[in-house]
Amino acid sequence: MRYLILSDIHSNKEALSAALSFMRRKRWDKVVFLGDLVGYGADPNSTMDLLRSLRPLAAVRGNHDKVCSGIENGEMFNRIALEAAMWTRRKLTPSNLRWLKQLPEGPVVVDDAFAISHGTPIDEDAYIFGEIEALNVFRQTPFELCFFGHSHFPVVFALSPDEITTILTVAPVFRLKMRPGVRYLVNPGSIGQPRDGNPLCSFAIYDSDARTIAIHRVAYPIQATQRKILAAGLPRPLADRLGVGR
Ligand code: ZN
Repeated sequence: MRYLILSDIHSNKEALSAALSFMRRKRWDKVVFLGDLVGYGADPNSTMDLLRSLRPLAAVRGNHDKVCSGIENGEMFNRIALEAAMWTRRKLTPSNLRWLKQLPEGPVVVDDAFAISHGTPIDEDAYIFGEIEALNVFRQTPFELCFFGHSHFPVVFALSPDEITTILTVAPVFRLKMRPGVRYLVNPGSIGQPRDGNPLCSFAIYDSDARTIAIHRVAYPIQATQRKILAAGLPRPLADRLGVGR
């Protein structure tokens, strides 16, 4: 089975479309989504419609999905994120609001093969930035393979009996062959707002038969997305950061 793993799309329809048209040349069987479908970007409904049309096999909610749908009030958000979330809440159709509200909290186990979470599988709002956080997650969860999002940069943490290692991926295509006896925490990176200094959208393919994980970086028309953000009256830094991937 080949799973297309998408995270942190953030209402960026151009980026999601580019990832999907790139993947049409490759093959995937099922789509899995790690949260933050909306917030920040100017296309909440059409981006949601596109993702929903893929009929994701599994999905979890992100912190922006909670605030944009009204489950939480966003008191932990900075001013810009909150302004975008309130704008998004006003724009969402009733159907999309309902769909966002029913997204479950992670972790969710998919096909008995792997787990997904937004922040960490222990706390959906917590970040995994480095090896200490990753080690704590490995110790407190049973999963051999867990995909997570929230930090918006692609990274692999691998725990062997002896050590934990970090792979910060920088190649346009990064491929990993999973090793027996090693556990993995994998962030596929962000579709809609990459923050690793590379503005290209980022996503992963997990092949459960071959036991391989690939992380792809794909270009999309960033300037079109930026223009839409400004035309919508959303805060300018949300457009600017897309150009530098931060
Ligand atoms: Zn996010």
